[in-house]
Amino acid sequence: MRPLIARVVLDTPLPQLDRLLDYRVPEGMEGVVPGVRVEAPLRSAKRMTQGFVVELSDQQEHPGPLSDLDAVVSSVEVLRPEVWRLARAVADRAAGSAIDVLRLAIPKRQVRVEKAWLAARAAGTAEPAPLQTDPPEVTGYRSAEVDALLAGGRVALGVDPGVVPVGDTWVGRWAVTFAQLAARTLAQGASAILVVPDHRDARQLEAALHATLPADRIVRFDSAQPDAERYRGLLRAMGEEPVVVLGNRSAVYAPATRLGLVAVWNDGDPLLSEPLSPYVHARDAALVRQEQQGGALVFAGHTRTTDVERLVELGWLTELGPERPRRSRIVPTALAAGDVHDEHARIPSSAWQAAATAAATGPVLVQVARPGYAPALRCRDCGTSARCRHCTGPLRLQRAQGAPSCLWCGREERAFRCAECRSPRLAHVGSGTGRTADELGRAFPGVRVIVADGERRVLEVDERPSLVVATRGAEPVAAGGYRAVLLLDGERMIARETLRIAEDCLRWWADAAALAADDAKVFLVGVGGRLATALATASIPAFARAELADRRALRFPPAARVATLDGLPDAVTAALEALPEGADTIAERTVDGRTRALIRFDYAHGAAVARAVRSEIIRQAAIRRKPVPGASRPGRAILPLRARFDDPEPFDES
Ligand SMILES: [Zn+2]
Ligand SMILES: [Zn+2]
Repeated sequence: MRPLIARVVLDTPLPQLDRLLDYRVPEGMEGVVPGVRVEAPLRSAKRMTQGFVVELSDQQEHPGPLSDLDAVVSSVEVLRPEVWRLARAVADRAAGSAIDVLRLAIPKRQVRVEKAWLAARAAGTAEPAPLQTDPPEVTGYRSAEVDALLAGGRVALGVDPGVVPVGDTWVGRWAVTFAQLAARTLAQGASAILVVPDHRDARQLEAALHATLPADRIVRFDSAQPDAERYRGLLRAMGEEPVVVLGNRSAVYAPATRLGLVAVWNDGDPLLSEPLSPYVHARDAALVRQEQQGGALVFAGHTRTTDVERLVELGWLTELGPERPRRSRIVPTALAAGDVHDEHARIPSSAWQAAATAAATGPVLVQVARPGYAPALRCRDCGTSARCRHCTGPLRLQRAQGAPSCLWCGREERAFRCAECRSPRLAHVGSGTGRTADELGRAFPGVRVIVADGERRVLEVDERPSLVVATRGAEPVAAGGYRAVLLLDGERMIARETLRIAEDCLRWWADAAALAADDAKVFLVGVGGRLATALATASIPAFARAELADRRALRFPPAARVATLDGLPDAVTAALEALPEGADTIAERTVDGRTRALIRFDYAHGAAVARAVRSEIIRQAAIRRKPVPGASRPGRAILPLRARFDDPEPFDES
């Protein structure tokens, strides 16, 4: 009999080793089965590396002498076949290494957690108890449409704005819808994976799930968790009984043998775009996974991204919405001269009046663009903008009583002198959360003012009167919903020059508006035109359609795909020359000895482009190069060529 061969994917950053390597299973080595973590010698480096057994064979793939596996690290089959297939496919699509995806999917081994789990499994207590109750209806939707979805449909799901109580917390209606869909999926004997951008969404969804399902069916699996909890989540998701997995972008890689539902909340949020190579967006991973494993696929949000709109137009997704949709009560409010209340002309008097009335009865939300006190400073005497004397970065004031500090280098400036006129006197430009809170506090004496931004995390506020000043995305959920919402600084938000700024603004506003009580008004201040119309008339899909048509005319994403190639100039040039037909270079520049090129191609050419880029990355990595002096620490390999496919903001280099 031939020796047994284990095909192993090694945990190594070398792109040329991103394939299955054959190892001989030595006589007497127990527990070598697909999915286990092993230790194996890396011939070129003369050291041991960890990896996962992907498959076993009695046939050697490549001729030549084989090395022996060194050890089985753990008997637990942590790499599930469905996760391996997914990692391989999304890595190939983005010209990346499968092991980089597996690192997101499989947390570091935690021996104590693993021992406890193995003991529970041996005792038969690792699996959740049988479900006792019938699954709930998905409230607000036609049951026939829900049934069709859960039979393996793919939908762009419209959800109602507003908040509802579950237990003793308030959550967005969307969270209840997700929980009900997940409960129905479990009742069909399949698992559900629910992906949300951040901890605020996860908190709401977890509360809604706990109100719907027993705790042993709910698994948090989230890269923001401590390693031990994350590893426990992985082990729980591997069981035979179906569970609901919820978490941030890496949750899309959770194990699930029988997968009934993948649902992604708010796919326009940049937090769903993985910042680590191969930079795969959770939306794309969900699409690949649903194609591989079947089950239902849901993309839901208070707005619609151009990416989802593209899939709707292709017929890949169908539209599904509530039977009788609710609408936020948006009031576009112009900033007309003479109709302003405060000295900084930020709040029109009509909105001010409504906020004053509402603040007497409950919490009022004021959304502003920027955190801090004064987001910019200038010389009070000559008007020159105040800049850092060390790095010329802009100075700002973080706190009313603090010293100005530099936005770029963070240094404090305690002895400011204007670069033009030497004046020491500073004037504030604009209002951040802190200054807005101060002004409102003076205008509404006796009302609590709560600030919520990146520095001051507030997740929920009670139903007592208060003014909640929050930056976009940091808004707490209010018990009973906000009695009024003021969306300020809209003009400033739109002014950013990014590809997706219009859809981003709509998402920030619609998400804040969705926190309002059902009968409360939402004042969109100083923004008119098609954005205001889209928000006010709930015609956001039409807006996404028009936006996508514009991108199509320009061949901008998501109408076409893009990739950035970054590296040593000759490596990038070689990669550009190796590109197949259908890819064109739209920008290329070299700064500090590294070249960055932006290429564009149609979806139909995506696989061929990724293959060509990938083989160039592997070829370049294999060429031995002289170290560039000062380019990197010795011993740390800097790849001569790197690729990033489908950057949501490919033109934004900051
Ligand atoms: Zn000056
Ligand atoms: Zn500075």
